[in-house]
Order: sequence, then C-alpha cells, then structure tokens
Amino acid sequence: MQRDLPAVLIPEATIQARVQALAREISADYRDAGAEEVLLVGVLRGAFIFLADLSRRMTVPRRVDFVMCSTYGGGTEPGSVTLVMDLRSDVRGTHILIVEDIVDTGRTLQFLTKALAARGPASLKTCAFVRKPDRVQVPVPLDYLGFDLPDVWVVGYGLDCGDFHRTLPYLGTVPTH
Ligand code: 5GP
Repeated sequence: MQRDLPAVLIPEATIQARVQALAREISADYRDAGAEEVLLVGVLRGAFIFLADLSRRMTVPRRVDFVMCSTYGGGTEPGSVTLVMDLRSDVRGTHILIVEDIVDTGRTLQFLTKALAARGPASLKTCAFVRKPDRVQVPVPLDYLGFDLPDVWVVGYGLDCGDFHRTLPYLGTVPTH
C-alpha cells in the first residue's frame, strides 16, 4: 500500500512558486530590518527539503543549522517535546528563523520558540511549510507560512509515512493508518 504513489494535494509547480515567493518576502523583511545575517534553523527530518529550496532562493546572507525534536506520549494525549539534537553554536545576538515542515498541534514549534528565545537571540521568527489549522492546540507565533491544509496525513516534500515518500517533489495524501 505504502509504495503506491500518493494522490496529489499540492503539485510541485505550486510548491516551487510559493517557496520562491516566501524566500523573496523573508529576504526583503530581513533586509529592511537591517539584519546582517540570518541563521536558518531547520527542524529535522521533515524540513530538510523545504529548507534546502528556501535557503537557496533567499538573497540575504544566511547560515544553516539543524535541530531534531522528539514527541513523547503521542496519539491523542498532549505530547511533551524534547530536543534530541541541538544547534552547534551559541546563538546569542543572532537573527534566528526556525524552518519547520508542518504545524500540527503546534507543540513542536511552541517548544522550540521558547527554548531558543531563552538563549538571547537578536530576533526569533518562525516559518512553516504547511499548517493544519483544525488541529492546532496551542498558540504558535507563525511569521511565514506556505500553505494551510485540511486535516489529512500528508507526505512528500520532506514529509514521510513510515519513512516512505519523503523525496516526492509534490505534497500528497495517503489514507490514514
Ligand atoms: P506538532 O508538534 O505541531 O503537533 O507536530 C509536528 C510534527 O508532527 C511534524 O514535525 C511531523 O513530524 C508530524 N506530523 C503531523 N502531521 C503530519 C502529517 O500530515 N504528515 C507527516 N508526514 N507528519 C506529520
């Protein structure tokens, strides 16, 4: 079942156009704010393709680092999020843009914004490729967003289902398992 090609929800060309527009908007905002450099913090694993495309299209000086989070107590119970892989360097005084794949309950992004804000960055903003507004449970400050989605399980463009489908160039849906 998982090897069947998922149905297309957002085609590749639509994604690429949106990522281009986001990169332009983000670059203009940091330029206007006088930021000399931005640190893009990608949330592994799901954000790796979005981050790769976004970062290559941005036009302000930028560096890239990654974090990885883990959620315990999943299912319908509120999950508590922990950091399983941290940034390589001190971010005090740095302009940080968190780049997340998907905002579902919002707990991962809420956890990360609190954790990184406590480190004294010059600024902290958030960018998510997609969000499921009907699923969000906690308030998440989102500065940039690619697309809002219905409450369906999505794969492709970095997102997986049991480690399948991550490298699809489009966003697809698979039946919920
Ligand atoms: P949150 O902390 O916002 O509830 O969850 C974010 C994480 O849930 C994402 O990083 C991702 O791992 C997972 N997730 C939620 N919805 C989906 C989905 O539709 N597809 C995939 N592949 N992952 C999802």
